[in-house]
Amino acid sequence: MKSKILESSPRKSIALIAHDNMKGDLGRWASKHKDRLAKHNLYATGTTGYKLETSTGLPITKCASGPLGGDQQIGAKISEGEIDMLIFFWDPFEPMPHDPDVKALLRIAAVWNIPVACNQASADFLITSSFFDTTYSRQVPDYESYIRERTV
Ligand code: PGA
Repeated sequence: MKSKILESSPRKSIALIAHDNMKGDLGRWASKHKDRLAKHNLYATGTTGYKLETSTGLPITKCASGPLGGDQQIGAKISEGEIDMLIFFWDPFEPMPHDPDVKALLRIAAVWNIPVACNQASADFLITSSFFDTTYSRQVPDYESYIRERTV
């Protein structure tokens, strides 16, 4: 499929998700970087969102809880171009009943070429990148031109 360029604004839309054993790590990371995060639109799965809002005071748009479909809601927003970045502290030690949703979310993030951080170190790299609060042009699938070529 051809690709096109999608430009994200300096104010990013960032999805934050953490599995239960990782919520403490994400909470500490978000508190540490609260001032930088405050300049962006934040989204989260349900429980992660409630916990982060309480611990940081940052406003967060909350989806359903992950096991109830929240990961898929975040994935849908990524495919609609609404989310520019995914910070997802998934648990490498516990199997999850909603593993297929987690895999689907990570796949969609790869398809739409958004930056993904899966742990504190990678999240530190993202948040200190010069692209974090400037525009960034990323390559995304150009479905419109694909379908145009097949319907004329
Ligand atoms: P939660 O979902 O934020 O509602 O706990 C996260 C997940 O398990 O994907």
